[in-house]
Amino acid sequence: MRRTRNAKIIATLGPASTEPHAIESLFMAGADVFRLNFSHGTHTDHRRRIEIIRDLERHARRPIGVLADLQGPKLRVGLFHGGKATLGSGDVFRLDLDQAAGDRTRAALPHPEVFAALTVGTELLLDDGRIRLRVEHHGADFAETRVLVGGELSNHKGLNVPNVVLPLSAMTPKDRSDLAAALDMGADWIALSFVQRPEDVAEARAMVRGRAWILSKLEKPSAIVRLDEIIELSDAVMVARGDLGVEVPPETVPILQKRIIAAGREAGKPVVVATQMLDSMVHSPTPTRAEASDVATAIYDGADAVMLSAETATGEYPMDAVTMMDRIIQTVEGDTHYTMMRDAARPAPDPTVRDAISAAARQVAHTLQVAAVVTYTSSGSTTLRAARERPEVPIIGLTSDIRVARRLALVWGTHSAITKEVHSFSEMVAKALKNARDEGFAKPGDQIVITAGVPFGTAGTTNILRVAKLEGS
Ligand code: PGA
Ligand code: MN
Repeated sequence: MRRTRNAKIIATLGPASTEPHAIESLFMAGADVFRLNFSHGTHTDHRRRIEIIRDLERHARRPIGVLADLQGPKLRVGLFHGGKATLGSGDVFRLDLDQAAGDRTRAALPHPEVFAALTVGTELLLDDGRIRLRVEHHGADFAETRVLVGGELSNHKGLNVPNVVLPLSAMTPKDRSDLAAALDMGADWIALSFVQRPEDVAEARAMVRGRAWILSKLEKPSAIVRLDEIIELSDAVMVARGDLGVEVPPETVPILQKRIIAAGREAGKPVVVATQMLDSMVHSPTPTRAEASDVATAIYDGADAVMLSAETATGEYPMDAVTMMDRIIQTVEGDTHYTMMRDAARPAPDPTVRDAISAAARQVAHTLQVAAVVTYTSSGSTTLRAARERPEVPIIGLTSDIRVARRLALVWGTHSAITKEVHSFSEMVAKALKNARDEGFAKPGDQIVITAGVPFGTAGTTNILRVAKLEGS
């Protein structure tokens, strides 16, 4: 089963997408990767969904990626008398460690690390930035603030502290237990929320130990400051526009989106654009024109993947949202302006044999108008380098490792397939041709470009380029 677009679609699963037929309909409509959001639901819910996905994968004979998204150090206030309180603009409001229910004058904030990191003048944002406070006095266990913008605050609402690097690990105790469960269930990608510094990614990497690829969600200004280092340590990044747009002024989000995509493209690391892409489709069968334009912009910018959150997790029209996203992507990818932008943004190959071969493969594919670029890969990294070149034809990533094939589901232009390890040159050519034909990419008379490494089966050895023709009629 093949798709006819390059950019990938990630669909978040939730109450609206729990049953096998619902998940299957999202897949058929175009979802390439499913996100399990560990901020919600139980391990049992997530495990059940992975089982459904693996069943579906067997029937569809197409590797499907599973992204386990860890909640991260999301800060939340405690409870209120009667469930809520209204904060008045100009009033004094106190946050402290006292677990007693709050009111219009105070609330619990059970995070001592936050108090330790505050200075007078620090702004605190509550409930996705709807309420703003400024710190006037603070101690080890409290902060007295002035309400800059008031409003109604209810139980467990989130708190953001932009521009302050908090001495918090990106992995809370809940994240550690969720991570262990996600790996045990066989998640292919682990998403880290609220990454603040490169060390956060390194810490997670040490825990994951190669069992999944790591995606860092960029939603803190401090992560943007150290963008290149974070990209370097990550396997992919996400422009997590929901929290990012609370932490920085919304008008800077589109600029950061373009910057992050360009940095990811340069590094050859996939970039996902997420949040509110087709938000109105939570309740409506068609998107706003602005939303259609937003998805299109992410594709023109060069994103590897676009993500749906509430649209597929809790919305009323999950399948329509995926179908709409698929149509927008295909339409943009058919536009000559898109082709021009894609080619203009192509980074130079690194001076390595692998990059030289990947760049040559794209060039040969163009000159000979071949049907596909077939890459043999054992770790997935050669296929990532091929995708960095953004060839005009599909990339087939052949691997003997199903985990690698599933991870590649997130990568631009890549169709992965499983093949047994090859042991000879002629076997390599024959298998590549057979896969290109069986997967629906090449027909008799078509040529393909193949890249591989000799000795066979060793990671990071890509050093051959071969053109082969599919014989027969
Ligand atoms: P979330 O992350 O949906 O887990 O908050 C994405 C975002 O913040 O945009
Ligand atoms: Mn977020």
